[in-house]
Amino acid sequence: MGNWLTDKYAEGIPYQRYYAGCQNVDDIESYAQELAKKLFNAEACTVQPHSGCDANLAAYLAILAEVIENSKVKEIGKPLMQMTHDEFETVRQEFTKARILGMSLKDGGHLTHGFRNNFSGKLFEAFSYGVDPVTEMINYDELRLLAKKIQPHILIAGYSSYSRKVDFSIMRSIADEVGAVLLVDMAHFSGLVAGKVLTGNFDPIPFADIVTSTTHKTLRGPRGGIILSKKRFEEGLKRVCPLAQGGPLEHVIAAKAVAFEEALTADFQTYARKIVENSTSLARHFMDEGVRVITGGTENHLMVLDVFKSFGLTGKEAEERLFNGGIIVNKNAIPNDSRGVIQTSGIRVGTAAITTLNMGEPQMQEVANFIVRCLKGEDPAKIRADVQRLKARYPLYKAISLGKLCHTN
Ligand code: PLP
Repeated sequence: MGNWLTDKYAEGIPYQRYYAGCQNVDDIESYAQELAKKLFNAEACTVQPHSGCDANLAAYLAILAEVIENSKVKEIGKPLMQMTHDEFETVRQEFTKARILGMSLKDGGHLTHGFRNNFSGKLFEAFSYGVDPVTEMINYDELRLLAKKIQPHILIAGYSSYSRKVDFSIMRSIADEVGAVLLVDMAHFSGLVAGKVLTGNFDPIPFADIVTSTTHKTLRGPRGGIILSKKRFEEGLKRVCPLAQGGPLEHVIAAKAVAFEEALTADFQTYARKIVENSTSLARHFMDEGVRVITGGTENHLMVLDVFKSFGLTGKEAEERLFNGGIIVNKNAIPNDSRGVIQTSGIRVGTAAITTLNMGEPQMQEVANFIVRCLKGEDPAKIRADVQRLKARYPLYKAISLGKLCHTN
């Protein structure tokens, strides 16, 4: 990302820009696009979104244009720019009637899936589905009933803190039954899709109309976003600028191309497989130590621990205690959390970063042990020393000594 392309403005799309002098960025951006399509086997792609949130905003606006605006344009018989103020107002009013149905924030969804303090909750009439109170997993039969009742224009699948695979063939069938566009936000698990760990019904690309993602989580690239889609939405996605953004960040797009090249290698597939092996092993060690893991385990890169039930701590207290022990995790709400999103009853733990450090299953036992000892109240200074000893065996950059990089309180 630290390259000279940061200096170049390039509104528009490759080879059709509003700016001169874009030959080099055109080649780089179209190369990144082709790599992303190959990596995910997608029909269409834009690599311009600045982030996961921006990808969702652009995707929503492209869907509104395709599903609502286009039919109104036909009805009125004029392109948008030639409509009178009042004619355009009838189009705009239609947007406000659009409904979305996404996973609720408290059960694992993301802010952009309908939270009231986000554009998604303000732009749409937003509804949410949760998880089953007993299994703590998505109940597809319940979701189908809810979707039939709400008749959403967009059904959103995908999550920020849900530890199970999602069956996108079922999501597709639900969307079809109610005539909704299926949008999958794979921000969290796109690396597991790229690395061929999530395949068949668990790969969203064949089933979804639009798939959005970040490029910096399990995909392990620069901070950014992408949108993949079926041909039907290709034209809409070409308009990320001006729909939701101005100039694309071509220096980040170059870095995305590097990340896609890496993700196309056999090594990346090994990495993705190890992330999940480490995650399932870590969850097992936690459960062996008596910790309540939400849903009773994990099938992806993350898990949520009920620290209130297991240690009598709120998520916030657990987060602070672990920080003092040299371990950084986030507090996280658990399903039906009575402690709200600031205190919470849980923490979310993931294995993507420690797998990059090359830690394997034996180290998962050590990591679980550090976390459990810390949450049980052992002296944080002692835990921190143990953590540093483990980290010293797995440096991020072998050439740089841990001491120089490490923040020590
Ligand atoms: N979508 C999901 C499911 C996420 O988990 C996140 C980030 O946590 C985003 C979107 C937003 O990504 P960004 O922070 O790049 O805007």
